[in-house]
Amino acid sequence: MGRERRRLLVANWKMHFVRAQALEYLKIFTERVRNINKTELVLAPPFTLLETVGRELQKTQIKLAAQNLFYERQGAFTGEISPLMLKDLGCHYVIVGHSERRRLFGETDEIINKKLRAALDAEIAPILCVGETLEERRAGRTQQVLEVQIRGALHTPSPPSGRGSPPPLREGLGERSEDLVIAYEPVWAIGTGVNAEPHEAEANALFIRELLAQLFSAEIAQKIRILYGGSVNPANFEGFLRQPNIDGALVGGASLDPEAFAQLAQMAERLSELS
Ligand code: PEP
Repeated sequence: MGRERRRLLVANWKMHFVRAQALEYLKIFTERVRNINKTELVLAPPFTLLETVGRELQKTQIKLAAQNLFYERQGAFTGEISPLMLKDLGCHYVIVGHSERRRLFGETDEIINKKLRAALDAEIAPILCVGETLEERRAGRTQQVLEVQIRGALHTPSPPSGRGSPPPLREGLGERSEDLVIAYEPVWAIGTGVNAEPHEAEANALFIRELLAQLFSAEIAQKIRILYGGSVNPANFEGFLRQPNIDGALVGGASLDPEAFAQLAQMAERLSELS
């Protein structure tokens, strides 16, 4: 039986590259992944490169993502970027709640919930990042932390009454559950060269899927893709790809090298061809 969920590989370029570098990258990467069609490939360049990269990707099967968004559609929010602007540039996905945004820019679960709703409203698929710190892991609180982050980001248990209060997210998500992606990214594994053990990541991915079944339904939970992120590279990726509840990866450092990222894409494709 084939895999129910299509594998997904997302490059998070973070704050790297100017136009000439991005174009050079694309020349190499698009050529290397030309034949990949079973695995979904996504590039998330910084805002300044969305138009340049987006234009090049139009000629390919690769999709465009933003690394962040603001939750209002327009208005006096100096320096912010709205979901409508991202949609206008052809973004298919947007990363929401990355640990760097939580830690360095004070994003709370409440803000992340608003961003997630705004993305879905604009028909941009959110990639919601969750994960525990080293201290939380050492204290044995990983799954507790994941639960708080996921409930906070996805769920409005009792929507506040009154004018303009948003409906619970489950109503908004409905048939578009496949549009939601969760990236399990242990904070201690991001950019450190120390990855989680695949079986540990799988246990946490399974925990997330079971929680999604409670929040939405078993059927929806089976459709939502769960990625692993944290020091993924060509030497360790296969271990993650072989886990039943891990549907791909969100990749930072290794995605900056087009050859290495193409290698990850080929690995995912080979396994998808087998299953
Ligand atoms: C990330 O920032 O989402 C990430 C996974 O980074 P890295 O691959 O460098 O650990």
